[in-house]
Amino acid sequence: MILHIDMDAFFASIEQRDNPGLKNRPVIVSGNSKRSVVSTASYEARAFGIRSAMPVFQAKQKCDHLVIVPGNMKKYQANSKKIMEIISHFSPVMEQVSIDEAYIDIKGCERLFGSSEDIARAIKKKIYARLSLSSSVGIAPIKFLAKIASDINKPDGVTIITKSRVKNFIFTLPIQKVPGIGKSAMKTMEILQIKTLGDINNYSLPILTRKFGKMGQRLLELSNGIDPSKVETNYKRKSISSETTLSKDIFDFENIKQVILDRSQNVGRDLRKKKLVCENVFIKLKFSDFSQITRSKKTDTPICSSSAIFNEALALYKKIRLKKKIRLVGVGVTALKDKNTPVQMQLIPDRNMCKKQWESVDLAVDSISEKFGSNIIKKASLNNLYNKRNPDAE
Ligand SMILES: [Mg+2]
Repeated sequence: MILHIDMDAFFASIEQRDNPGLKNRPVIVSGNSKRSVVSTASYEARAFGIRSAMPVFQAKQKCDHLVIVPGNMKKYQANSKKIMEIISHFSPVMEQVSIDEAYIDIKGCERLFGSSEDIARAIKKKIYARLSLSSSVGIAPIKFLAKIASDINKPDGVTIITKSRVKNFIFTLPIQKVPGIGKSAMKTMEILQIKTLGDINNYSLPILTRKFGKMGQRLLELSNGIDPSKVETNYKRKSISSETTLSKDIFDFENIKQVILDRSQNVGRDLRKKKLVCENVFIKLKFSDFSQITRSKKTDTPICSSSAIFNEALALYKKIRLKKKIRLVGVGVTALKDKNTPVQMQLIPDRNMCKKQWESVDLAVDSISEKFGSNIIKKASLNNLYNKRNPDAE
């Protein structure tokens, strides 16, 4: 099961909590200019028909005793951080999607924390105990339904769409509730007389693709209760990199190669320390005239060994036609994943062996550098790699 946790009127609730004078009053958090729109409305303000993204002047027209509070992003972020920390205790597979929303996949966590509903209530309780803020949780076997569910019993609600209810739920779900359906898609829906997600099934894939483009296929999948999107841990968006400004601008291939290897080792060590692998490697070069370029490459398989990172970075470097001297070299990795994420089997066993061997070299190097400092071991392994690999590098 997947849980979608969403804070209730997040910014406004924080302001009401911190300023008792605002309790039970119609409050909006917004900017102060003429063009400002409502960022968040308290539930008391929502009762007047005030919604997020509504121009503030319009909100004032709807409620003459509306209280307007300027936003304090720093404070909201600090609260968000604590909330995400709490949620992450319940499952390692967590994806934060905005400042006040996250998904968790609780597969395998039930034995520890109980049923999906128990987990939802425990999360809500813990957040409330620590921050006096209420939240709503949606539970469903697929991701997009979890999000829809969290909205159903707001505020302070828990909504479960069990496996056996999925079909019926989809059948009657108003099509405008499906994430990603905008105004123009809605017009087409009306023409096709599609009122619920279930109605999508009256049309074939070719027709849906013609009418909705790429989204056609997704809609058809969703209407059949299939959502291939997984809860993605947020490592994916992050990167690890290491760069250095050279003591003088250089043009020499061997020297640059050394620097790339040195940086690759830093990145590799960092990656392994965090128990991550990467699926993308990039290099960054800054030239004597301060112009800069980056080049990146997807790896065939997830990697974390310094030598593998180096090989990818070097391949990128070799493709660049140098015209100017280089003043800065950087190597980095993105598309990060947990190391124990299942990896597709390698097709070439020899390469696999090589990869395994390099991994054990890395482990040895890492533990030695940990004990004796990174410089001692770095030099030796640099030399090793240079002499054995890429003799044709020039
Ligand atoms: Mg929210």
